[in-house]
Amino acid sequence: MTAVVIGLDIGGSKLAAALVGPAGQVTARADKASPAREGPDAMIDAAAQLVSSVRESAISAGIRPAALGVATAGVVDPDTGSIRSAVDTIKDWTGVPIGPRLAQLTGLPTAVENDVHAMALAEVCCGAAQGAQSALLVAVGTGVGGAIVAEGRLRRGRTGTAGAIGHIPVQIDDEDGARICSCGRAGHLEALASGPAIASSYASAAGLASVPALPAVGRASRAGDATATAVIRTAGTALGRAIGGLCNVLDPDVVILAGGVIGLGPLLLDPLTSVLRGEALPGPASVPVRVSRLGDNIGVVGAGIAARRLSGQAADRG
Ligand SMILES: [Zn+2]
Repeated sequence: MTAVVIGLDIGGSKLAAALVGPAGQVTARADKASPAREGPDAMIDAAAQLVSSVRESAISAGIRPAALGVATAGVVDPDTGSIRSAVDTIKDWTGVPIGPRLAQLTGLPTAVENDVHAMALAEVCCGAAQGAQSALLVAVGTGVGGAIVAEGRLRRGRTGTAGAIGHIPVQIDDEDGARICSCGRAGHLEALASGPAIASSYASAAGLASVPALPAVGRASRAGDATATAVIRTAGTALGRAIGGLCNVLDPDVVILAGGVIGLGPLLLDPLTSVLRGEALPGPASVPVRVSRLGDNIGVVGAGIAARRLSGQAADRG
């Protein structure tokens, strides 16, 4: 693909759109707050406006975007561009035909991908997994998501759910009672290791009246607060065990870590990596573990890569 496309990243707190070049170059990026509580029509209108503004700046620079790629929260049906299921990050998102609606509003051919699946497309194309034939991406933020690339292709699974590492059961018998996950089930990884889970674990262990923001937990740990350190270590341990187990199943070329919680740095990454290597069998134990290099652009780049399949070229890695 040589054409420039528009990548649109739809999240529960923010919308972002940008021009994405053939090697993942991002220009003309625009962001706005996501009207996630106002329902699908408000989300689609806000997204279409953002795409229009990026497209206008492209056209004024003499560029005609060839297609629109969308990365969104929720399980996506890539054939229809609709949301098969979603938790309530975005109100009433399940069933929304986001691809057809945006194609109609923008007049652009539109491809839709789950946001974490799109992250893996981005990292393999032009990030920390560039050139890898297989990769396991784990995104730790408000939730815990994952994506699997095998033999050069993104694995979406039979229903688009593949890679949902956050919903691996990790607690079997917990004296405190297993925590309830965002999906409603008990004892899943996300309920222990997401940003909100770490912050609320800290608040309850430290006896705080309100739940602090995650960076405050990191600062407390660095200032010598043993409770904060223990809570972050528990999350890192849970992540390391789950990722190590998956490395035994998949034996990937590389593990990529993305998402805001990874910003806790060595407080989280040291226990994560050492537990991962301890859990993994002798071969997978040496897997390279890298942090995403695309930062905040990972979603728009992945959305742009998703648009490639519309051009039907061999460069399609999805
Ligand atoms: Zn779950």
